[in-house]
Amino acid sequence: MDSKIVVQVMELLKVYGDGHQIRALDGVSFTVRAGEFVSVMGPSGCGKSTLLNMLGALDRPTSGQVIINGQDMSELRDVDSFRARTVGFVFQLHNLIPTLSSAENVEVPMQGQGRAPAQRRQRAEELLALVGMRDRAHHLPGQLSGGQRQKVAIARALANQPAILLADEPTGNLDSQSGDEVMGLLEDLHSQHGMTIFVVTHDMSIARRTHRVLVMKDGRIEREDVIGRPFEEDLKAFKHSGLGRALLSGVSAGAADSLDGLLAPGDQQALRQVLSRVPG
Ligand code: ADP
Repeated sequence: MDSKIVVQVMELLKVYGDGHQIRALDGVSFTVRAGEFVSVMGPSGCGKSTLLNMLGALDRPTSGQVIINGQDMSELRDVDSFRARTVGFVFQLHNLIPTLSSAENVEVPMQGQGRAPAQRRQRAEELLALVGMRDRAHHLPGQLSGGQRQKVAIARALANQPAILLADEPTGNLDSQSGDEVMGLLEDLHSQHGMTIFVVTHDMSIARRTHRVLVMKDGRIEREDVIGRPFEEDLKAFKHSGLGRALLSGVSAGAADSLDGLLAPGDQQALRQVLSRVPG
């Protein structure tokens, strides 16, 4: 069944400057469905931040349309309120308020959203537990590691149950282990809680951990790579092919001859190991 479309971007154009014009976005169109884990990847200057700003209604396009959760951004009257309710932001720099504890930081976006203080605190604690930071609820940002701060920032982004989490280089400022943990958290939020997540990155190793990669170049989406499920489908098809079955079953004499002509014994063993891990 097709899930709901959360983001619809149509022919987005953003031109900067008067004399020498820069087309930061040059006809970008795509959709994101509920529960997708998508990334936008490309070199510096290709238009990623400009695109993210449009999705978060932080800036307006020169032309084209952005529809988030059924709402056309150009028709919004109260942008701030829409943003607070619909979009959760995670930035490269966590932007936590240094004088507030983790729990208080997570509560900030809940202000003015009709929750009583005790409800706000309870939800903040639930969200901190969700990101594995319950025992740091009363710590100040300065008492946390970079990765821990980013986890608190993710909890804060989830405060108002946003339709989509927008993450701008979420591991950009972290060492590789902390970055790995933060990506692991995003993966869990996606797989276990069905969050719709949109990550902007220039790093292929980060993009590879999402399930669909929009590759940008010069303000355009140059190509789209789908990772994960289709790859698994390909492996399943291979597992059930004649060659796959021959590899897995230890091979009959005739098949072994033809395999030996095709693949070195070490490669056969490596393929056998991969195929034996493919479900189905
Ligand atoms: P990325 O996030 O992929 O590094 P950006 O979206 O920041 O790329 O920038 C895309 C292009 O638009 C770049 O050429 C950049 O110099 C230009 N640009 C971005 N913001 C502005 C601005 N406020 N004024 C003029 N040019 C801008």
